[in-house]
Amino acid sequence: MTCFQNNLDKANAYLERFVRDGVTNYINGAAVAAADGTIFDSISPVDLSTICTIAHGKAEDIDRAAKSAHAAFKSWSKTPGIERKRILHAIADGIEARAEEIALIEAMDTGQSMRFMSKAALRGADNFRYFGDRAPSAHDGQSLRKQGQVNMTTRHAIGPVGIITPWNTPFMLSTWKIAPALAAGCTIVHKPAEFSPLTARLLVEIAEEAGLPKGVWNLVNGLGEDAGKALTEHKLIKAIGFVGESRTGSRIMAQGAPTLKRVHFELGGKNPVIVFADADLERAAEAAVFMIYSLNGERCTSSSRLLVEQSIYADFTAKIAEKASKIKVGHPLDPETTIGPLIHPEHEKKVLEYFEIAKQDGATIALGGEKFDGPGGGCYVKPTLFTNANNKMRIAQEEIFGPVLTAIPFKDEAEALEIANDIDYGLAGYVWTNDVTRAFRVSDELQAGMVWVNSENSRHLPSPFGGVKSSGIGRDGGDWSFDFYMETKNVAFATVEHNIPKLGG
Ligand code: NAD
Repeated sequence: MTCFQNNLDKANAYLERFVRDGVTNYINGAAVAAADGTIFDSISPVDLSTICTIAHGKAEDIDRAAKSAHAAFKSWSKTPGIERKRILHAIADGIEARAEEIALIEAMDTGQSMRFMSKAALRGADNFRYFGDRAPSAHDGQSLRKQGQVNMTTRHAIGPVGIITPWNTPFMLSTWKIAPALAAGCTIVHKPAEFSPLTARLLVEIAEEAGLPKGVWNLVNGLGEDAGKALTEHKLIKAIGFVGESRTGSRIMAQGAPTLKRVHFELGGKNPVIVFADADLERAAEAAVFMIYSLNGERCTSSSRLLVEQSIYADFTAKIAEKASKIKVGHPLDPETTIGPLIHPEHEKKVLEYFEIAKQDGATIALGGEKFDGPGGGCYVKPTLFTNANNKMRIAQEEIFGPVLTAIPFKDEAEALEIANDIDYGLAGYVWTNDVTRAFRVSDELQAGMVWVNSENSRHLPSPFGGVKSSGIGRDGGDWSFDFYMETKNVAFATVEHNIPKLGG
């Protein structure tokens, strides 16, 4: 039996329970249908068939989940950090034990290839271990002194929080948001993306099997405009950790305003990779190809704008086209596949529209630019490269979120920076040069929350992750996550009998 067939058989076996029973919500430790009994379908990106049905939660389900998270908060926020650490490590163990199941289900649900999904499950476990280790010190603060006074700061979990996640790498992203919230002592209501809801259900199950008390983690499936909106408006929910599109972020900010919701946004990007002629061009090309064509290009930090010094533009883009032309598009469970089908026909339509827009704008389609006839006939598109582009074109300004790269020439460092920064987004940037002082200057001037020099996106969990401009508000990672999920309190002690101002005689 081939490895591909083997993967397919295993995936179908793992999916059987969802096909039979549908995917329920999970509130206060119990699997529950939507309060009004409605469901929606989860569609396979491979062949557009219905994988299974999903509980269609709405405001009433969110209300129940928020009340459950509120009731559990008192005890969970007071649970000793060392015990929260033990439970988070047990969740990581549970993820590792079920890594194959998670990866296969995630690949079937999202269209992302197994090549990347097997690692995504393990990255999820790392997130729980990393934040678990920090749970015992999450409440610690500083001691700040002046003459006659000592100030003591402490941090306290903010309360029940809402976590709203997108469809691109749902498992990994959910763990990235949920692990620090639990480590801080918050309880949660999670609303996963409607296009890829399956692994969120596995995650909450694993957490409770690992000993997480009932009600600490609640899951409500549903659409953004009903379940998502209700979560952002709920009075008992103190903060919203959101990953998704920039315009959804604006909506959430407006929806959360009446209840003064604290928000943390990880939003879209149109990230420049700037390649100077003095760089190691082979490594730069490998990295640029990896950052746009891995994860189907459905990646917030993808290097979707390739800025290349004029003198090497023709050769470098030819190198990219040659490498990209060898990338295999195929079934997500085929171990040979790099690019699987895009998440959903709606998203595929959006990506395909940009092929027409590129032509109308006058760019050249140097590679791809069309649908791919893949197994199952689903949402496959060919890896695509646009050349002869300029930064005013829509293909240079808008987030396409597919395996589609726009290459723009620049004449010198000043122009490279001007092009890189002339955009609404500011998530990540990549700089390739062997001139260390230029690397410093350019990375310093780039309007981005994260810059990698001579590297693809390689994460270090204690470092801050997040964007500027329309790419986000706030940072995740290390202590930055705790700053969001916790309130800082200052207590000032008088250390001497100082003179108190006397009023009224
Ligand atoms: P989306 O904004 O359409 O949806 C994200 C989530 O928000 C979904 O769960 C959706 O149901 C919910 N939602 C939609 N409308 C809502 C509303 N009015 N109120 C509350 N919730 C609502 O995003 P998507 O299409 O699922 O994901 C792709 C986007 O996510 C891209 O823009 C990508 O760049 C971004 N992303 C960013 C990061 C990052 O770290 N910066 C990481 C991954 C993805």
